[in-house]
Amino acid sequence: MNISFNVPPFVGDEIKYITKAIKNFKISGDGEFTKKCNSWLEKNFSAQKILLTTSGTSALDMAMLLCKFQRGDEVILPSYTFSSTATSILVGGATPVFVDIRPDTMNIDENKIEAAITKKTRAIAVVHYAGVSCEMDTIMDIARRHNLKVIEDAAQGVMSTYKGKFLGTIGDFGCYSFHETKNYSMGEGGALVINNSAYNERAEILREKGTNRSKFFRGQIDKYTWVDVGDSYLPSELNAAYLWAQLQKADEINNNRLSTWQKYYDAFKPLADAGKFEIPTVPPECKHNGHMFYLKLKDLDERTKFINHMKSNGVSCVFHYVPLHSAPAGRKYCRFHGEDIFTTAESERLARLPMYYGLTDDDLKYVTNAVLNFFK
Ligand SMILES: *Cc1c(COP(=O)(O)O)cnc(C)c1O
Repeated sequence: MNISFNVPPFVGDEIKYITKAIKNFKISGDGEFTKKCNSWLEKNFSAQKILLTTSGTSALDMAMLLCKFQRGDEVILPSYTFSSTATSILVGGATPVFVDIRPDTMNIDENKIEAAITKKTRAIAVVHYAGVSCEMDTIMDIARRHNLKVIEDAAQGVMSTYKGKFLGTIGDFGCYSFHETKNYSMGEGGALVINNSAYNERAEILREKGTNRSKFFRGQIDKYTWVDVGDSYLPSELNAAYLWAQLQKADEINNNRLSTWQKYYDAFKPLADAGKFEIPTVPPECKHNGHMFYLKLKDLDERTKFINHMKSNGVSCVFHYVPLHSAPAGRKYCRFHGEDIFTTAESERLARLPMYYGLTDDDLKYVTNAVLNFFK
């Protein structure tokens, strides 16, 4: 037996669309497929503007650059996240300030944000861990009262909702990832959601190496020029063509993952109720996307034994994240506000089970049995 932790999604039409991009003689950015993906995402998520990017990280970088931070400005975020959430704040010129997470969803604890706000705070970067939304009403209310921007790291939250609103469309900016480990993929890629049209033009400029080329292609100006800072954030059409095939099957992929997630949940609920381990919590106002299924074991020692047990049964289970405030760059560039009650302790207990589009029922049963055997 050999069950991978992740298999990149593939629905079948990817090659057809990539061939079409090649035959269009348009393999650089912003051709037919990039435009199709942008409008599909805008329409289906009711967003005013969405731009494909080269990664979730570059979408985060763009969002932070659009905030125009000054040196010394601070951005509040959880420490339990991927490094990109913090590196983008550094790229944007501000200082990351960590606060603790909630143990139930592993998301930023909305009740610890306000105490971390100083005269220099400019934004809150929330991470919708496992595609389960943060407590956005509370967070948006804090942001409004303190005049802060909200950046949603929705890398894992494509298709998830909070009170009926798609993640990424609630704050000022939303950032999606289409990395091969995410629900929808284009190899490496992502998208920036812009929820205020005042930022549309500068976003296009940042994405096109600091030039107003997008305006030129629309025929709004007769030559394009260098006007601002920027980088190359637009992906190749070849990648966009791969994603287009996946977006066409977005509901199928979502339903398939949700069904796998639910089967894990049902299989493990009795043992979770008996206190053997914990399983994910999804608050009633959140609809998730089956991005991840994890167990939280007693402690680091039990998790190590569990992952080794699964490995000896041919099942690959992984853990993450080493809290950013304890990493070398975190210690150098960031600070943690308040007490780390849950971030480190909870992160050391968490193990992720194989979860991907197309995981077969047989494989799922095999994984489930291997888990149950460990607790016998
Ligand atoms: C995957 C991920 C990212 C980075 O996305 P890339 O497309 O790999 O750059 C950022 N934040 C979170 C929470 C992620 O899971």
